[in-house]
Amino acid sequence: MEVKFQDGVDFSKLLDNNDPLGHFRQRFYIRKHVVYMCGNSLGLASKDAEAGLLRALDKWKEEGVAIWNIDDSKYYLYSSHLARLLAPIVGSEEDEIAVMDTTTTNIHQVISTFYKPTDAKYKILVDDINFPTDRYAIDSQVRLKGYDPRDAVKVVKSIDGKFINEDDVIDAMTPDVAIVFLPTVYYRTAQVLDMEKVTKAAKDRGILVGWDLCHAIGILEIDLKALDCDFAVWCNYKYLNGGPGSAAALYINRKHFNLLPGLAGWYGNRVETQFLLRQEFDHQKDAGGWQIGSPNVFSMAPLKGALKMFNEAGMANIRKKSLHITKYLMYLVEKKLKKYGFTIGNYREDSKRGGHVCLEHNEGYRISLALKDRGVVPDFRDPNIIRLTPTALYTSYTEVYEVVNILIDIMENHSYLNISLKRKLVV
Ligand SMILES: *Cc1c(COP(=O)(O)O)cnc(C)c1O
Repeated sequence: MEVKFQDGVDFSKLLDNNDPLGHFRQRFYIRKHVVYMCGNSLGLASKDAEAGLLRALDKWKEEGVAIWNIDDSKYYLYSSHLARLLAPIVGSEEDEIAVMDTTTTNIHQVISTFYKPTDAKYKILVDDINFPTDRYAIDSQVRLKGYDPRDAVKVVKSIDGKFINEDDVIDAMTPDVAIVFLPTVYYRTAQVLDMEKVTKAAKDRGILVGWDLCHAIGILEIDLKALDCDFAVWCNYKYLNGGPGSAAALYINRKHFNLLPGLAGWYGNRVETQFLLRQEFDHQKDAGGWQIGSPNVFSMAPLKGALKMFNEAGMANIRKKSLHITKYLMYLVEKKLKKYGFTIGNYREDSKRGGHVCLEHNEGYRISLALKDRGVVPDFRDPNIIRLTPTALYTSYTEVYEVVNILIDIMENHSYLNISLKRKLVV
């Protein structure tokens, strides 16, 4: 049901009372007098996530090395254990997912696996506005194979520094392109790329295609099975609330299980022969075979509880709430903040926007700090973007209303003008 929004705190309370996901909030650690709007960057801790972590710690205390064997070798096989919970969230089969390392390491893993350049086909297609670690990894992979990134990394230019046009990506899919690697949701403007259109175009041209789902996972409904891309990577600490530096994940389409991993290690060995400790690598022929070393148990344990909540809530419901609460925020921005020079920097169409609202203002940096002084946690991205993320599982509509009122207050009192322009290390 599409609700017509109204101004006023009573209306925000009405929305909270009608929110079918509202009850999840009590399972999170919500600080008093703090409105957390940064779940796109690092999701909040929950009691469920904490329980998983404490359990792993207890098992280590009680069992020592036997931790690997208890509960049907759960911790030894921890990646596949967690993959079971991730599979419904990305619409793949569980043996197509490995939970491991960081997103950046996993990009190295998939690219070193899939990038087999020939004289005729040696380019990797990327864009110029993705989060830069992806590019650093791609450039270094190309260099490792003896190519110059200025030649072998083909960069699709954004329209205006903000958005990428899918047709520009497709036009750039020339016969010399071996792999297309792009983000599903852009970290600055929350633009959602049409994965289906781009994947189909790449496949039609015999180009391998991989997706970075970092800003998409836990917010979009993703169906990797239907998409049939070749590989994907993502982190689990943003919308999925797995904790700071939580282990990331990769997806390998099962049709590629016979490939050897670019970066091999003993955890990619077949489970049954791993502890025979032979010198020859006996590749586990599923995504688990792309693991490198031992599972980072304490970076994985919070995920158990965190992911369980996503499965309980269901991705369709999460997407629905996210679209609705961000639309409410945009309604309030248009109605109440326009006169202070704020504009909305993301696309308005539901199909083209992810989980955050991109609030633009020339004084964005200092306003974002003024918000922090007032107990609101946003983040800031150059040159003028305040990212505000009301999440589906722990943000209330009343909090959204409050943030907009605090912004009005900051602008009316010019309180941001007292803040130094000197930058902090993590913004
Ligand atoms: C968050 C994010 C990452 C994070 O990389 P780590 O190696 O896990 O620190 C990488 N790529 C994109 C596009 C991201 O949004």
